[in-house]
Amino acid sequence: MCQDRIGGLPTFETERVSNAVSYAACLIPCCVKHAVFRKGTSFPLERRLIFRYTVSMPRAEGFFEFSDFLEEPKDKEIGKKPDSTNKKHAVLKEYFGYTAFRPGQEAVIDAILAGQDTLAVMPTGAGKSLCYQIPALLLGGLTIVVSPLISLMKDQVNALREAGVCAACLNSALSLQEYTETMRLLSSGDCHLLYVAPERLLNENFLHSLKNVRGNGDTSVEDMTDGLSVRHQDKARLNMVVIDEAHCVSQWGHDFRPSYLQIAEFIRGLKQRPVIAAFTATATPKVKDDILAMLGLRDPYVMSTGFDRQNLYFEVQKPKNKKNALLEFLQRNKRKSGIVYCGTRKNVEDVWEFLSDRNFAVTKYHAGLEDAERHANQDAFLYDRKTVMVATNAFGMGIDKSNVSYVVHYNMPKNIESYYQEAGRAGRDGESAECVLLYSGQDVRLNEFLITRPGEDGAEPDEALIQHNLELLKKMTWYATGTDCLRSRLLSYFGESAPSFCGNCSNCNTQFDEIDVTVEAQKLVSCVMRVEQRGRRFGKTMIADIVRGANTEKIRAQHLDTISTYGIMRELSAHRVRLILDFLIERGYLALDAGEYPVVRSCEMSREIVFDRKPVSMMLPKEDKPPRKQTASLGEPGTVLAEAVQNVLSLDEALFEKLRDLRRNIASAANIPSYIVFADAALRDMCRKKPKNRREFLDISGVGEIKMEKYGDLFTALIREHEGE
Ligand SMILES: [Zn+2]
Repeated sequence: MCQDRIGGLPTFETERVSNAVSYAACLIPCCVKHAVFRKGTSFPLERRLIFRYTVSMPRAEGFFEFSDFLEEPKDKEIGKKPDSTNKKHAVLKEYFGYTAFRPGQEAVIDAILAGQDTLAVMPTGAGKSLCYQIPALLLGGLTIVVSPLISLMKDQVNALREAGVCAACLNSALSLQEYTETMRLLSSGDCHLLYVAPERLLNENFLHSLKNVRGNGDTSVEDMTDGLSVRHQDKARLNMVVIDEAHCVSQWGHDFRPSYLQIAEFIRGLKQRPVIAAFTATATPKVKDDILAMLGLRDPYVMSTGFDRQNLYFEVQKPKNKKNALLEFLQRNKRKSGIVYCGTRKNVEDVWEFLSDRNFAVTKYHAGLEDAERHANQDAFLYDRKTVMVATNAFGMGIDKSNVSYVVHYNMPKNIESYYQEAGRAGRDGESAECVLLYSGQDVRLNEFLITRPGEDGAEPDEALIQHNLELLKKMTWYATGTDCLRSRLLSYFGESAPSFCGNCSNCNTQFDEIDVTVEAQKLVSCVMRVEQRGRRFGKTMIADIVRGANTEKIRAQHLDTISTYGIMRELSAHRVRLILDFLIERGYLALDAGEYPVVRSCEMSREIVFDRKPVSMMLPKEDKPPRKQTASLGEPGTVLAEAVQNVLSLDEALFEKLRDLRRNIASAANIPSYIVFADAALRDMCRKKPKNRREFLDISGVGEIKMEKYGDLFTALIREHEGE
């Protein structure tokens, strides 16, 4: 009888041994040795897989004997050590329930398995966790995953345990009991993945416990699985160190954490250097170089999967009233789950109250809330009790919730990296999702204030860093105010080339016209030069006011109505003048000084416009803006997006709702978020394939051996019932 309740798995009892489900429970790594093999030895991964495979045949017929476990596998093919290709595919299906890798995953896994240090830059939702979890299982022994946030660790460990992998975490939020249990797992050598906060790496106790883990020759015991000959010392070795959110090591990144600087020291202190694998979702070339240098990666394999997330629709709105715009959007998306990001705590409270008053199932999150409330609110959102989360950027890093259908930014973030990371929390399940930014000029000023204010200790911030951050803010502002394809702008920020028209963003959908603006450009540039001739410089608004002939107190007082370019663009709307002015600045024909009041000035390239009369054209929205067509925005027939739409349309909605209810019941009974039981995508696959038995259930994307054993009967019974069988 195994008394241990490890990895969130059900306790195995010998009385129920003839039941197939109990058998499966005891086949979970940490229970194998207690329940079946009492000799104090444990098994390398391949061995456990073999046992699972051996029993998977009779399982289909119902029951099987205890002795099934004790017999050597009869099939010689199974006993043969498979090559690494077969192994990684076996682990992918066995534990995670997938039959194919996503782009980039395999290359990273291969590099790590070959013992090469690795830096992988993969967007949110590309499946970066699998890239180290699979090698961790195949390498055996221990893998340490350095992770910045407790919520991230908790989620990952839950998901791994749910998949039947022995994983644990060490952080300040553990109870004494949890801490003791983690330490016990660590010294037993059963733990495959240990998630650790960076602050803990140089902690004496932690280093001491690792010493035991790393073991040495004298505890070496030949495992009873002599055919595969894995020795105790190997199983206990620290084989890999993974650095998640690796951009935190760089102060040029958007989320610098000083504690990340300890990682390199920790690695240097290890007697035997393990493989080092670093992962991040966002990294500009500068940050990338920093990661490589600061972590001391040796001859690393560097991989970037590309940043495009085809299932995300990008939109920028410049509403007069943000609350009304938000309300309109949320009413359209009432049944979906999503995040509304605000720039400040005050805005969070304000928006939260506004939506609460209008009966939305809304919750909130920011650093000013008490810990208990913050956690309760986060859980309410994760467990689908609330559908809208209003939060500051303190929320979301490490949140793995896959069914987030939209991310609305109520305020513009301070740079594109933050924006893309936050917006990228939508559509992690690969379903169509929307990312909407509600922009206003005040957002720019708020961010400038945040960037230039003194640090918490009152210290003046570093001037070079301020300039760097203001430059990033400028690029973010261009994203929000520009008129070209939003996707192409995001991708070009990350150094990727992209077509100028994606057809799945608000700018593309407002139906662009290519318009010759040569004359308008000449007028604007010469206005800036005239102003400079008078020894003056102004911001964009004032320049636009002058050319449009605005009759304001400011203009009269400064005699700007006497400039020769005053009123030369009267016929255009203020908005259009601003679009053209923004375009000229963005293309470098005019420059914009950073600072509290950014001023427009002429530059070298301005000469091309006024002296060389260079022709300039730009994509401008038609003056009469037609409403956005939802279906037209989702791509031509045959494209990935069109297929996604088709899949959603043809879904058996009634069955989907039933499956969701079942999933919710299972999740709340186990006190884990629904998506850890199954992602929405897995439920949709069930709706399409309608599996009626265990074998068919195993074909569902996201169903591995453990989940099949745990939930297969429940879900297939429900599907049979739904089909009237
Ligand atoms: Zn576009």
